[in-house]
Amino acid sequence: MSVFENITVPELLINESIVRANIKHMAEKARQQGVAFRPHFKTHQSAEIGEWFRQEGVRAITVSSLRMASYFAAHNWQDITVALPVNLREVECINQLAAEITLGILLEDAQTTRHLDEKLLYSVNAWIKVDAGYHRTGLAWDQPEALIQCAQAIQNSRHLHLQGLLTHGGNSYHTSKDTIPTLFAESIQRMQNVKLALLAAGFQDIKISVGDTPGCCLAPTFQGADEIRPGNFVYFDAQQYQIGACTFEQIAAVIACPIIALHPDRNEVVVYGGAVHLSKDTVGIEGISTYGMVCLPEGEHWSTPITGAYVKSLSQEHGIIILPAGKIAQLSVGDLLCIVPAHSCLSADLLGSALTLDGRRIKMLSLRDA
Ligand code: PLP
Repeated sequence: MSVFENITVPELLINESIVRANIKHMAEKARQQGVAFRPHFKTHQSAEIGEWFRQEGVRAITVSSLRMASYFAAHNWQDITVALPVNLREVECINQLAAEITLGILLEDAQTTRHLDEKLLYSVNAWIKVDAGYHRTGLAWDQPEALIQCAQAIQNSRHLHLQGLLTHGGNSYHTSKDTIPTLFAESIQRMQNVKLALLAAGFQDIKISVGDTPGCCLAPTFQGADEIRPGNFVYFDAQQYQIGACTFEQIAAVIACPIIALHPDRNEVVVYGGAVHLSKDTVGIEGISTYGMVCLPEGEHWSTPITGAYVKSLSQEHGIIILPAGKIAQLSVGDLLCIVPAHSCLSADLLGSALTLDGRRIKMLSLRDA
């Protein structure tokens, strides 16, 4: 029986073979480039999928919250970097984790570093968060004095051990396929400049950690970096496809959504699948801002995207889909559409569990059982 027959509500569907191939491909690229691979687990948030990484030799991971770190620590991950600037209100959780595993955290100012150190009970690895051009968080790469002060505060602390410099080049999402390798190389060059300033100030063994999915997919070389941390590549999504970071065949996840109304007069169908399933992240398709690409169930998988179809708007549970008239005539209420979400990390988090194409439920950190 096909997995589609048992779907009653919006479900994250994943193709295990593609997920495993995506993991293998990135692990091999990291190996060939001679960098450490510390994948970000915020995309899948699943202990079971974590094991698929372990089978490819992964031993160190990145997460985006201490809660996620605790979940993966409970599933025997011993080396975890929490890639969010430290939240001083969670020191108790930091201490609990640091008592058990090799915990890495991000710091970006000397004062927070001192406050944290006063409350720490165990050793913690510290990375200085550098803004190499994305302008989300981090100390500006071209202001070495502040970076040196932060490094000094870490060096003077009792519990913190300086690992190096970490950046996230999220600006790659707002550029084009052709410019991503240059942007990636530029960001590593900026990190190298910061490293030189720290070495000149007497610091030693400074590692450089980088890694957004578009950069890690499209850059021909990781030269100058010591570690990469991509996460989204495990599923990819419509944004990555539109940027050119993946082929359609590498997309490993869709949201299967039941059709609940047909409006052929305005070329629209309505699916049970809204912002609480797909998220409000958008993706540009041929100049139109959309919430995802639209495919049909096809055999045991999903079809290629329907030309001219897209997710036009979302309310909490409703998704309005634009479809060519000829396609609507072939559909009935109760059929399924497979939506390639704009951003798979957010959709996976919202759905809280995944279904493989052979109907196996994959649990995630979220306690929802779908
Ligand atoms: N590192 C950090 C600090 C991040 O914030 C993210 C994603 O937001 C990643 C790594 C992974 O990047 P991507 O989602 O492009 O795979």
